[in-house]
Amino acid sequence: MKILLVSPEARLWNSRTHIHNGLGYLAGALDAAGFREIDIYDGAVEDESLDARLEREHTDIVAISAPTPLIEAAWNYARIAKAHGAITIVGGPHPTLMPDETLQNESVDFVVRGEGEETIVEFVQAIQRGAAPDELSGIKGLSWKKADGKIFHNVARPLAPDLDAIPMPAYALFKIERYTNLQPLTDGLDPHARAYTIVTSRGCPYQCTYCSKPITGDTWRARSVENVLREWKMLVEDLGATEIGITDDIWNLNLKRAKELCRGLIELGLNRVPWVTIHGMKVNHTDAELFRLMKQAGCKRVGFGVESGDEEILKRVVKKSQTFEQVRGAFRNAKAAGLQTMGFFIYGMPGETAATMDKTTQLALELDPDLAHFMIAAPYPGTALWDTVSSQGKLYAQSWRELAIQSDHAHFDFPGMDPQLVEQKWHEAYRRFYFRPKRLWKRFKSPDTWRNLPERLQDAKRFFVT
Ligand code: SF4
Repeated sequence: MKILLVSPEARLWNSRTHIHNGLGYLAGALDAAGFREIDIYDGAVEDESLDARLEREHTDIVAISAPTPLIEAAWNYARIAKAHGAITIVGGPHPTLMPDETLQNESVDFVVRGEGEETIVEFVQAIQRGAAPDELSGIKGLSWKKADGKIFHNVARPLAPDLDAIPMPAYALFKIERYTNLQPLTDGLDPHARAYTIVTSRGCPYQCTYCSKPITGDTWRARSVENVLREWKMLVEDLGATEIGITDDIWNLNLKRAKELCRGLIELGLNRVPWVTIHGMKVNHTDAELFRLMKQAGCKRVGFGVESGDEEILKRVVKKSQTFEQVRGAFRNAKAAGLQTMGFFIYGMPGETAATMDKTTQLALELDPDLAHFMIAAPYPGTALWDTVSSQGKLYAQSWRELAIQSDHAHFDFPGMDPQLVEQKWHEAYRRFYFRPKRLWKRFKSPDTWRNLPERLQDAKRFFVT
């Protein structure tokens, strides 16, 4: 039984690429269940089209994973796979939220909703023993359709309670030398990095209104520190990692555990390999000791979701459950520990005005992180923001692809809010933050600026043209 696990090419995002850990987990689970003919095809790094790959090698099952911005690309991949006679299955955040939409594509046979490790193993086992479609109805988390197109949704699969019991990702299947580094602070792309990602916990109990976590859910589940360290050791000592990125929704929810993990990295000497927290940290689960330990443990950079500089927007619209005092404390402690800092800021949440967005820019200037990432609010399906915009505003995007969060256009119209003002304030934030004499001098001194001069000039043009 030949199985290909697929991620569509992500041209929407910048040229930095890292491994798709979710596919690694699916491959690890299939391998542990005894399936040996598994491979990963990541459109972001392959030099052969999916069509050519399937032409060259017969494949029984093609399983495609997609977040919302890549769902149309996933459907296109399913069409290609179907043309080569494969059984097609699509999973990931978007089909989990909207399985009917994906199953209405005639090229898609099945959808996996939620965490997929157990579902895909049971599914492949059923296909291997030649189970009739009706027999698939016992597989939790699977959606499917009959020949007449009628769609069925099996009961949901509960979140995996014990993450230590999930087999580790099949890292060997990634063409690791084709991915770049994870460190935006270097500015340049290191084509020789062996950058791996690691998941130490899944889920998050917070309810930030713009955040979508349909796969990992609202219940925080953590791997034991020992289990994480075993994997970390393998990445460093067996796979030669030169950089590691934690991709948890919220890795520091349990402060004590976060510190234990850092102490473990120090004791095992694994702190020689730099690491970052890709999705940032939550400021209200930090203290000065945590940042000192992180620094000693090899962490290079920490990112924080600051989101807004306006108290009402932060509390009632973003629902971030953190205070400015906690934000300031986290930046202060992280900088004091010698860590590079990164801040995430959102413009154009419902009800924003020039004054609220100016406060956000002002806060970014005050916090002065090494890197500031300004985003225009994007309502993703499955979020409270999506519900608010759908019921009270008007979404501009004509396709899921257009919802990509890094767009520099407002994504929706909302009563009392001017979308052009949002775009103007977003451009202004970049200009005011990055084109200060202090910043320009720093950039001027950086060798990467000169190495990547054309890209840097393009960036500058983008932020000055509103
Ligand atoms: S943004 Fe972070 S803290 Fe907020 S709900 Fe999402 S994962 Fe949790």
